[in-house]
Amino acid sequence: MASDHEGRRYLVTGGASGIGRATALVLAARGARVAVADLDDAGARRTAAELGPDAVAVPLDVARRESWEAASARVEQALGGIDGLVNNAGITRDRTMARMTDAEWQQVIDVHLRGSWLGCQSMGPLLAGSGSGAIVNISSSGRHGSFGQTNYAAAKAGVVGLTKTVALELARSGVRCNAVAPGAVDTPMIQDVPERVRAHWAETITLGRLGRPEEIAEAVAFLLSPAASYITAQIIDVNGGELHL
Ligand code: NAP
Repeated sequence: MASDHEGRRYLVTGGASGIGRATALVLAARGARVAVADLDDAGARRTAAELGPDAVAVPLDVARRESWEAASARVEQALGGIDGLVNNAGITRDRTMARMTDAEWQQVIDVHLRGSWLGCQSMGPLLAGSGSGAIVNISSSGRHGSFGQTNYAAAKAGVVGLTKTVALELARSGVRCNAVAPGAVDTPMIQDVPERVRAHWAETITLGRLGRPEEIAEAVAFLLSPAASYITAQIIDVNGGELHL
């Protein structure tokens, strides 16, 4: 059976690592051509090489408009257009509100919220040319509130409003926009979290464990695919059944 992704073209931000890399791998394995975009240029090239000759690495700082303009031109030239965008790139700068600096606040808002907004804005016209374009933004279960993460929680809650509004504005262009909200996922982003904290997290998850990057990638791939043609403006939690005790 032909894959839903055969011949489709996607750009995945933060594709050098973690969830972005896993998403790029899943999409490429199903016949898609993937642009792997990341601030970590060498990492993006590594992922693209893993995907095979149809993949391209694209240097991108999601927080900078000029960088998106260059990435959009590069994708158009290399892939001839685009059918889906995954706004996944992310950082954390954790500190309690009382001690958080302006820079720590702004960096996180810039990468997650401004970065996703710039991605939707920059790639919208190319996605409109697809006929079945789709955007998946990555929010987080942290959007409900997360100690030491006023910056991150606010950005990820902002991604929800962004997603629902982009869905409204791009519907007339045939572009759907949804978000996936992962719970704790075992990636480099949480590598410094102590084992006892991870164990506590696992106790508050119905499935009793953290997620794997490829489990998030599957949900992203579904939302990008034509099989999800009647799903837009939705936030899909992929969190093993988080229990907010
Ligand atoms: P990760 O392994 O740290 O990967 C994030 C990637 O984004 C890295 O390659 C990073 O490059 C890149 N990046 C950072 N800033 C960038 C920028 N300005 N422009 C382009 N790329 C940039 O993290 P992950 O866990 O896969 O996270 C992926 C997404 O899932 C993030 O949006 C994150 O908030 C979200 N999420 C993660 C979890 C979790 O538990 N892991 C839970 C919920 C949501 P550098 O390495 O050079 O910084």
